Amino acid sequence: MSNIVVVGAQWGDEGKGKVVDLLAEQSKWVVRYQGGNNAGHTLVVDGRKVVLHLVPSGILQPACTCVIGNGVVVNPAVLLEELDELAALGHSVTPDRLVLSSEAHLILPWHLALDRARESALGDKRIGTTGKGIGPAYEDKVGRRGLRVADLFDRDALASRIREVLPENNRRLTEWYGEPPIVLEDVVDSLGPVADRLRPYARPATRLLYEACKRGEPVLFEGAQGTFLDVDHGTYPFVTSSNTVAGSACAGAGVGPTAITDVIGIAKAYCTRVGSGPFPTELDNELGEKIRTIGQEFGATTGRPRRCGWFDVPLLRHAVMVNGMTELALTKLDILSGLGPIQVGMAYRLGGRVIEDVPAGAAALERVEIDYEVFPGWDADLSRVRAWGELPAACRNYVAALEHHVGVPIRLLGVGPGRESVIRREPGST
Ligand code: GDP
Repeated sequence: MSNIVVVGAQWGDEGKGKVVDLLAEQSKWVVRYQGGNNAGHTLVVDGRKVVLHLVPSGILQPACTCVIGNGVVVNPAVLLEELDELAALGHSVTPDRLVLSSEAHLILPWHLALDRARESALGDKRIGTTGKGIGPAYEDKVGRRGLRVADLFDRDALASRIREVLPENNRRLTEWYGEPPIVLEDVVDSLGPVADRLRPYARPATRLLYEACKRGEPVLFEGAQGTFLDVDHGTYPFVTSSNTVAGSACAGAGVGPTAITDVIGIAKAYCTRVGSGPFPTELDNELGEKIRTIGQEFGATTGRPRRCGWFDVPLLRHAVMVNGMTELALTKLDILSGLGPIQVGMAYRLGGRVIEDVPAGAAALERVEIDYEVFPGWDADLSRVRAWGELPAACRNYVAALEHHVGVPIRLLGVGPGRESVIRREPGST
């Protein structure tokens, strides 16, 4: 039995969705454990593109049951829209294929309103959130003001709970941000039909996963965002509001740490970041622009252009450490074709001295200087290559060097967006 966590090793958008879709072929369960519809996982199967925000990326593998775990924050209307969109694409998601944890917290209208009002009040100091209410929903969860999926199904209790928590949120909205208040009755009315449709999906996810693990059925845990957006381990405060690291899979799905057997980190063969915050190897120039265009580096959720830069070894080593990573998958290798010499950030310097760790705090990370190593590039189109031995020697050399410096085996390489566009590799191959 292998229970694998798939986790982003950079700042998100590494191609986790594609890898989860691929690995889900050998899994019985795929579980989302944190984040919300700020995630956007793009899958391309048989040439058709599907973008998922809340539904786990195992949904296109017919033998998989998908779980939205308790650690996820769920905007119920958005989940229903996503189910409708999937149905329109011919992927009808029945309750036997999707479980929604009754303990997952809800994103409600005041969370959206507060998220947007705050970001606009911050002006050029904004975090660059997706404005989908994720942060305020997690704040309410931790502040014990949240509502959970189970609350949807008891109308009276729902109304009285909203009556308890709304005044504080409305005061923030009106007095701090000059926004109109949210009207209790409007919220209760809008949640009624939503609750009716979601009720069949709401089940005790933790119990189901516990039983599945006992039966030895493989479970795949799908991370959203990436290690450096983790609220503890990321580039605080330019982070998301949840723990994105692999350990979060346990709390966010309700399984014990002993259930996890492997942690696969996903990294691009270069590096991107969306939103504000430090990015040591950023290419804020024509080459960065070129990578953005060739790599189509625009957010799946917001359409925002992603900032692009070189692969960063110290960052990846840190990701290996905080995730207990056992393996790395390298995506978007095809995008580096024809770019000329490729640089890799090998070490960080602060005040002229090489430092071992990624410094805590955005300000220090802004100040690091990078020691780069230059690798010969390659021109060949990789999109149709399926065997390690058929890759150009310079490309194999690049991958082997990254494996050596990061310190974990690289077994899977991505050479295109499609499910089939992968190369499997024996670790240590050159
Ligand atoms: P996720 O949130 O980590 O799942 O990543 P996204 O879906 O936001 O972004 C990854 C993008 O890269 C998607 O558009 C994928 O279709 C695409 N992608 C994934 N792997 C590869 C690859 O190996 N090569 C290319 N060219 N595109 C890829």
